[in-house]
Amino acid sequence: MKCEEIRHFIDAYLDGELDSARQIEVEQHLADCPSCRSLLEERQAFRAFFVAAVSDYKAPPQLETKVLAALRRVPTRRKPSLWQQPWIYATAVVALSVCLALRILFPDPEKEFARQAVLRHSSSLSTSHLVEVASPNPVIVKPWLTARLDFAPPLVGSPAAGYSLVGGRVDKIENRSVATLVYKHGKDVVSLFCWPPDKEHLSPSERSIEGYRVSTWSNAQCNYVLVSKLSDKAMHDFMDSFRVQIQSGAYL
Ligand SMILES: [Zn+2]
Repeated sequence: MKCEEIRHFIDAYLDGELDSARQIEVEQHLADCPSCRSLLEERQAFRAFFVAAVSDYKAPPQLETKVLAALRRVPTRRKPSLWQQPWIYATAVVALSVCLALRILFPDPEKEFARQAVLRHSSSLSTSHLVEVASPNPVIVKPWLTARLDFAPPLVGSPAAGYSLVGGRVDKIENRSVATLVYKHGKDVVSLFCWPPDKEHLSPSERSIEGYRVSTWSNAQCNYVLVSKLSDKAMHDFMDSFRVQIQSGAYL
């Protein structure tokens, strides 16, 4: 199922109106797609906000008689759910604009990139799909990546003592294709995601997500997200040594 279809079904999904096959399809997509999941969260938050904000009004006693009489005159048809009323979307647009404005004022793109990088890293481990091009040699890995991307990722063969390149793959993060370089240190696997900072520069950040340590930074060539289970010290050693090699031009 594609993201546009999910957008179409999301209200019916929240209303429990989908048949079970479609519901499973939607759930599978949501499990894999952070952007649709965040749409779902927005819809849920909006519903919760709406339900909490609406007051109860007691109808005058004669209203019930009038409504029942009117209902007898019109042919029966399915009552549209609250979420099928056009005005609710106008309200939603206003609420979403407020959310968007808050996001523009207080953005945290590093968090979203970090979350998605952890998903890609952990699924590469769980599916044993570590790399698409397997070689410790940057001369082999670099052209493979460059042929599949609209940029040429700078490639360091051995970013720090004890680390060796396993290979590379192409991943999607925030709907853009990124180069993922995979390194091993003993049995530790490190994924280093990089892409050109044409839209935004990632600020330096460090966080733990689902048991992984994630670090972001950027330079003139790339935004970087590093995901691993390395200790903080080992992670900093890796990053320091990697930076030195990039700055000194020791990369392909
Ligand atoms: Zn999606």
